[in-house]
Amino acid sequence: MNNIKTNILILGSGPAGCTAAIYAARADLKPILVHGNQPGGQLTITTDVENYPGFSSPIQGPWLMEQMIEQAKEVGCKVYNEHIIDIDLTKRPFKFVSSSNSVFLANSVIVSTGASAKWLGLESEKKYTGFGVSACATCDAFFFKNKIVAVIGGGNTAVEEALFLTKFATKVILIHRRNSLRAEKVLQKRLFENKKVEILWDNTVTEILGTNNPKKVNSLKLKNMKNNSLKKIEVDGIFVAIGHKPNTNLFLNKLELDNEGYIKTKDQIFTNIPGVFAAGDVHDKTYRQAVTAAGFGCMAALEAEKFLTLVEN
Ligand code: NDP
Repeated sequence: MNNIKTNILILGSGPAGCTAAIYAARADLKPILVHGNQPGGQLTITTDVENYPGFSSPIQGPWLMEQMIEQAKEVGCKVYNEHIIDIDLTKRPFKFVSSSNSVFLANSVIVSTGASAKWLGLESEKKYTGFGVSACATCDAFFFKNKIVAVIGGGNTAVEEALFLTKFATKVILIHRRNSLRAEKVLQKRLFENKKVEILWDNTVTEILGTNNPKKVNSLKLKNMKNNSLKKIEVDGIFVAIGHKPNTNLFLNKLELDNEGYIKTKDQIFTNIPGVFAAGDVHDKTYRQAVTAAGFGCMAALEAEKFLTLVEN
């Protein structure tokens, strides 16, 4: 067993974690950042980013995250590719055990484990995941060249995924449970203007149908939310883009969480345990932007620095 001691352990390497790492490293706190399951976080499965300040032309999400991680390393943060499976926050130093049996002992911790895609919860969705069902157009759109695909959801993610899919598919059917989208107006405009896009309002997917040999999706059963009528449409693939849930399983019964699983915070970043801070999508269900996550990461690092100074004196 390998014991690794640090002033600040940062969990997660999305915009919140990387920004916390940059600030903590520049404060000479010699932070350690542990990547987690999805190094770089959700921006690594997006394409164009047009709203992160500092770039006059669209940049690629994965590139932006590579830059943030490199910047954190450049200013002195050590980065580990480990998966934390057990934690003890009952006393300091806080203890974190990884799946490869490394033990991290930290005087303070910044939890920036982010959020993951939500699923519809249908049995058939599980059955066909990877066989026509996906939650990442950036990853899987290529497999749907000249095919018909559906995208579920009405937020920014759904609209962005639908637009991205039009580069590959012959037709993209956006299926939304209401009759208006919550996506930003500029994205809505692009969607409505795209000739490859058809929108099915007021509909939900009740079942995903397909064949077993070869295993692949061929249609969807839909229910109209207004009149309960049922119909079937033919598609080759379905992209679920219905929002996210916070990655907080590790913190169940260890930190105070709200009823949706987000870490409860006071003044944005303070958890119920002194010395444990939360930053980004793991606690923020309001703004959920890369730039706000980065802001929370900065705040958490500055507060962690204050906390460490107080407990040391
Ligand atoms: P959102 O929570 O914004 O949207 C989720 C969508 O899925 C909603 O339209 C919702 O419907 C629908 N939905 C939720 N549950 C179900 C269900 N069980 N069945 C059918 N439909 C469902 O999530 P997003 O992932 O789109 O966005 C998350 C955050 O990330 C937002 O703040 C967004 O602005 C941000 N984001 C920003 C981007 C950018 O700035 N470029 C890109 C992508 C995301 P309803 O509307 O009825 O609630």
